[in-house]
Amino acid sequence: MTDRDPLVLDAMLGKLATYLRMCGYDAAYALDRDAEADEDLLALAETEGRRLVTRDEDLARTVEDAVLLTERAVEDQLRELLAAGFELELSEEPVRCGTCNAPVERVDRTEPTPEYAPDPAEIDTWRCRDCGRHFWKGSHWADVADQIREL
Ligand SMILES: [Zn+2]
Repeated sequence: MTDRDPLVLDAMLGKLATYLRMCGYDAAYALDRDAEADEDLLALAETEGRRLVTRDEDLARTVEDAVLLTERAVEDQLRELLAAGFELELSEEPVRCGTCNAPVERVDRTEPTPEYAPDPAEIDTWRCRDCGRHFWKGSHWADVADQIREL
């Protein structure tokens, strides 16, 4: 996964950011990073070496390797990315937090987990190093895997 370009997605692409993170991309999202204004978004892309993904044609034109998306629905946006040569496939296991984009770590089998998460002794569970959210490969994971396979 490390050979994939880190990305930054504009304010209109929050849902897409979650999908990309589940595919193992380092996908920063404008609103998480307080970068709604064009100049802040461009500065973030520049300082962190992130490729800009945007639905804003004018903005895309100002950056050399920006990815311009035209579709509104996330499935269609994913198809546009596939057409642009992006690899879209769920990671073997969670690598990035879908909520905040930080790396996740495996929860030890004996560690306690919050009520919404499964018992790690029974189901492999991961925790975000930053926001602490827990992840596992449950029905949501399977749904997204199907959705991506059917693109
Ligand atoms: Zn997180």
